[in-house]
Amino acid sequence: MSRRNKVYEGKAKVLFEGPEPGTLVQYFKDDATAHNNKKRGIITGKGVLNNRISEYIMTRLNEIGIPTHFVRRLNMREQLIKEVEIIPIEVIVRAVAAGSLSKRLGIPEGTPLPRSIVEYCYKSDELDDPLVSEEHITAFGWATTQDLDDILSLALRVNDFLSGLFFGIGIRLVDFKLEFGRLYVGEESRIVVADEISPDSARLWDMVTGEKMDKDRFRRDLGKVEEGYQEVARRLGILPESGPRDLKGPKVMQ
Ligand code: 5GP
Repeated sequence: MSRRNKVYEGKAKVLFEGPEPGTLVQYFKDDATAHNNKKRGIITGKGVLNNRISEYIMTRLNEIGIPTHFVRRLNMREQLIKEVEIIPIEVIVRAVAAGSLSKRLGIPEGTPLPRSIVEYCYKSDELDDPLVSEEHITAFGWATTQDLDDILSLALRVNDFLSGLFFGIGIRLVDFKLEFGRLYVGEESRIVVADEISPDSARLWDMVTGEKMDKDRFRRDLGKVEEGYQEVARRLGILPESGPRDLKGPKVMQ
C-alpha cells in the first residue's frame, strides 16, 4: 500500500493525501462486507477489478459531460481523485425490483419497474443506511433543494448512460448506488459524482441467463464471486493485462 498519509479508511477503500492540494488517492481493497458489516470476507482481485471498472465508467461519464471526482488511474489499485465534500446520502436508481425494495414492498426480484425509481438513504453504519425522503435531506441540512435537483438530474443521466452501456454487452442493469460530493472551485461549488461505480455498488445480471455478476454473489454465498467481477471487466474490454491478482502490490506513478 502507498506510503502517503491516510485520510480515511472505509470498508472497501482507503483515501490517502494526493500529490497536489485538492487531490486524494483512492485505494481499492479486496475486503468485502455485507449485511451492515455482519458478513466480512476477501474477494481476491476485487480491488484491482473495481479500480479498472470504476475508472472506465467515470472516464466515460467525464467524456459525456457528467462531472465526476475521477482524474486518472495511477496503478492497479489506486486512482487519483479530486477532493470533494461527500454528501451523506446514497442515491439508488432502480430499473428492476431486487434487494431491499423487493423485501420492503413484497415485489418479487426480477420484476421490471414501471419507471426508474430513485431512492435516497442516509449514510450511517450505526443506523444501517436508512431510507429517507427529500424532506429529511433538506430539513436536516444534508443537501439543499438545489443540490437535490442537481443530484437527481445527474443520477438520471448516469442511469441512461449505464443502462445503455451494459445493455450493449449483454448485461441488465438492475440497480445501482451513487454518491455525490461538493467540489469547491474558489468560492463556487458544484455537485459531482464521487466514490466508485462497480459491481460492489450495482446489480448486474446476464441478460440471457439472469446470472448475477455483482456483490450479491458474495452477499448470498453464490460462489464464483471474483469470476462475476472479472466477467464484467472482460465484457467491458478492460480485464487487466496481467490478470486481476495484484501480487506485486501497487506502485504510485508520479
Ligand atoms: P439494496 O437497497 O437493494 O440493498 O441496494 C440497491 C443497490 O444499491 C444495489 O446495487 C447495492 O449494491 C447498492 N447499495 C446499496 N447500499 C450500498 C452500500 O452501502 N454500499 C454499496 N457499495 N452499495 C450499496
